[in-house]
Formats: sequence, C-alpha cells, structure tokens
Amino acid sequence: MENETCSHCVAVIGGATAGAEVAHRLAERGILVAVFEQNPRPFGKIEDGLPRWHQGLRAKEYKNIREKLSHPLIHYVPNTKIGHDIEFKDLVDGWGFTCVVLANGAWRDRPLPVEDAEEYVGKGLVYQNPFVIAFNHREDPAYEDETFEIFDDSIVVGGGLASIDVAKIITLSTTRRKLAERGIDVSITELEVKGIPKTLAAHDLSWEDLDLAGCTIYYRRRVEDMPLITIPDDASEERIAKVQKARRSMLDKAGDKFKLRIEPLSAPDELIVEGGRAVGLRLRRTRVEDGRVSMTDDTYERRGPVVISSIGSIPEPIDGIDMKGELFDFVDWTYGRLAAYPTVFSAGNVVTGKGNIVASRKHARQVSKEAVEAYLGVGDAPHEGKHAQISALESAEAIASGVADEATVQPPMTQEQIDAVRVRIRARQSAVDYPGDFGTWMDHAAEPC
Ligand SMILES: Cc1cc2nc3c(=O)[nH]c(=O)nc-3n(C[C@H](O)[C@H](O)[C@H](O)COP(=O)(O)OP(=O)(O)OC[C@H]3O[C@@H](n4cnc5c(N)ncnc54)[C@H](O)[C@@H]3O)c2cc1C
Repeated sequence: MENETCSHCVAVIGGATAGAEVAHRLAERGILVAVFEQNPRPFGKIEDGLPRWHQGLRAKEYKNIREKLSHPLIHYVPNTKIGHDIEFKDLVDGWGFTCVVLANGAWRDRPLPVEDAEEYVGKGLVYQNPFVIAFNHREDPAYEDETFEIFDDSIVVGGGLASIDVAKIITLSTTRRKLAERGIDVSITELEVKGIPKTLAAHDLSWEDLDLAGCTIYYRRRVEDMPLITIPDDASEERIAKVQKARRSMLDKAGDKFKLRIEPLSAPDELIVEGGRAVGLRLRRTRVEDGRVSMTDDTYERRGPVVISSIGSIPEPIDGIDMKGELFDFVDWTYGRLAAYPTVFSAGNVVTGKGNIVASRKHARQVSKEAVEAYLGVGDAPHEGKHAQISALESAEAIASGVADEATVQPPMTQEQIDAVRVRIRARQSAVDYPGDFGTWMDHAAEPC
C-alpha cells in the first residue's frame, strides 16, 4: 500500500457486478479504491440471487469479479455494512474520499400491494429474496437465517426472470422429493439441465405418476410482455413483434420442461386469510392497452399452501440517504446523484432497478466513464466525458439541488490526505481480520455449499 502513487481515493459501496466494474476501471486509471462489502465475499446477487443451478454463469461471474477486485490499487473491506458498521455520512464527508460510489444493489422485496400483507409474512406469505437465499444455502451447515418449506402448488406472484426461477425452485424441489421417495436420487442441477419430463422418462415415470400440481405464476400483464428478452428502445414494430413471439415460445418451453404455468392478466387484490394465515389470493383480472395495465371488475380466488411474492427488488434504505417512496431520492437518475451528497454517484441495480447482470455492468461502466472519471479528471476522453456529465447534471432538478456545482474536475489529493485515508481503510480491515491481500482472503472465504 505504501508505494502506491494515486491522484484520488474513492470509496465503492458493494463489491459485486457493478461495484467491481467501477472499482477496476478507476484503479486502472491510478485511483486508490476502497471497496466496502457487507458480506465476506463480494458476489452479491450472483451468489445469493441466481439459483445454484446456474453453474456456468455463476462461475464466469465469480471469476470476473474476483479478477477485477484483485487489482493492487483496490483495497477490499469485507464484513462492513455501510449504514451499520460505518455511517454513510461519515464515509462521505468524514473519511476524505474524493467521491463515493453506491453499488449496493436492491436487496429488499417490493411489498405485495394488498392490504395488511406485512402481517402475514411467515404466515402463508413469503418474499422472494429470503426464499432464494435460503434455497441457495440449503446444504450449508453454517447458514443460520430463515429457512422455508417448499410446497407443491405454491402461488407465485411475479413476472420477471426471478419469478420463473422461484417457480422452478418449487417444481424441481418437489419433483426431487417425489423421486427420493421412490429411492431415486437426482440432483436439482441434473433435473434443471435435463428438465422434468426427460428425467422422469429415464426412470420410466411420467409427470402424472408423481401426483404433483406444479406451480403457477400470476402476472399482471400478458405472457408476451414478460421481460425475458429485452426490447431495445428504438425497436421497430416488426422487431417488437418478433421479441414478443420469442418470449411466448420461451415460456411455452419452460412450462413444459419445468411444469410451471403462467396465469396472465391477473393482479393480486386481497389475501385470503383463515385462522390467522394467508391461504390464498383473490386476484383481479387486468387489461393491457397501449402498454398500460388497468383493473377490471372481474375477480377470482386461488388457494394454495403458500403465496410467494416475486414482484421486484428495491434498495435497502441506508441511514442518511433520503428515500422517495421505495427508492433512493436521486435528483439525477443517469448517474445516481443525491441532493444532500454532491460527491456521491450510484451504479448498477440500485439505480437501474433491472434484475440483470449485463444491465448492471453496462450502467456501472457508463457511470464510471461519463461521470466519475470525468469528475476525477482521469477519463479516456475527458472532454467528451465531462460534456456528457455536465449535460446530465444540467437537468432542472440537479441544478436546483446544487449537484451541478460538482461538474468541475477535482484537484488531486495531497499525499498527506491520501495517507490519512489509507490509515482509516487499514484500521477497518484490521478490525474485520482482513489480511490485506484479496487473494488470501478469498482462498479462505470458502464458498458455502
Ligand atoms: C432469482 C434471481 C435470478 C436471477 N437471474 C438472472 C439471470 O438469469 N440473468 C441475469 O442477468 N440476471 C439475473 N438476476 C439478476 C442479477 O443477479 C442482478 O441484477 C445483478 O447481479 C445485480 O448486480 P449489482 O452489482 O447491481 O447488485 P448486487 O449483486 O446486489 O450487488 C450489491 C452488493 O452490495 C452489497 N451491499 C448491499 N448493501 C450494502 C451496504 N449497506 N454496505 C456494504 N455492502 C452492501 C451486497 O452484499 C452486494 O454484494 C437474477 C436475480 C435473482 C434474484
């Protein structure tokens, strides 16, 4: 650490896809970066979101993040939750960083929009984030958080990629259990790769033999609206129709292979409660016109052992950051700027709200290149970058909030200032027993089962 020559120090909050991307870009440009991560390992939703059967994708993304964070100018600070172990305001205003990048993702479930939903959490209502985390850690002896029983015929409310994974967790797990009862041992990954019908056929069984109902996803839009394939902003009518057709075909295939069904044009209206537990949902039929969803007068009931809400993830509030509804109150949504903290930028899922690895990485690259690097005066194309930054900041809201004043390139930090930041980083690393070397730390922070 002592021999590094840097012009600035930057803190990144969250070390996963978006955080690692920003940290690496800045380190490559001679910036000292401290990455504060709440967990021992920096893999975020790659480790605790993607169900474990995404083995290839997970391995690729682990390698990518690990390589990026191995840069000698990046100082990893694990087991440090900003807002809990270190106050956000202190980190931004007190530590001496030229700027701070929030890359903390979205770890809270959007509340199910029905009356008194929160009263029934754990009593027939389950949210996606803890459900998937528990599934991923089901064979991890060190896992101490909440666990969930997996029921056939569960009700899933959702519509994105994650809700399909939730439905698959149910049908794959219940199929595996039925096979185990017959003395047949098949792993979840094997079942996922081959699909349920083929796996059963290999054992001379059919789906009907298992006497399972499968799982239904209730979705407020049409099947072709499910965002499994992205429609580019400038897509022609013809292109849109093609993507919609491909989405329908993908879902048909997933339905056959994983025994899940989609009930479109259905929005949750009310929980059905009996004996203090949610035992199902009343749903309201919807209509989609010109891309807008409207409610009809038609309702129907659906009972099931559990309702799993998978309608999107939102950022966990951090003390000191103003919220607007369920989101951070950004005055600039391109670069995730906050009125009260002119030196803060934000990247990845915390801003995009898109549960998508590529979208997080792309956004992180854009924020780093156009805003942070321009701000620090280390961009590849400083004029172009600065121009982009200024135009984004010149929105009426940003100017009104004073954030636009920060469009000026920052003078380099003095050696004394940099040394003072290093001392604080090192003190926190010592407090969490971090050996000072990322490779050594990662070799010991073993992957849970
Ligand atoms: C079930 C499921 C299936 C999915 N399937 C796919 C898929 O097939 N393809 C795809 O592209 N995407 C998929 N995604 C989405 C994808 O995994 C995420 O969108 C993406 O990984 C987000 O990256 P990120 O870096 O923006 O956020 P995250 O991965 O959430 O990273 C944020 C990091 O910040 C840390 N952090 C949070 N708060 C703090 C704090 N206060 N202090 C310090 N650290 C903090 C977290 O621990 C985490 O490491 C799926 C998600 C889920 C839930």
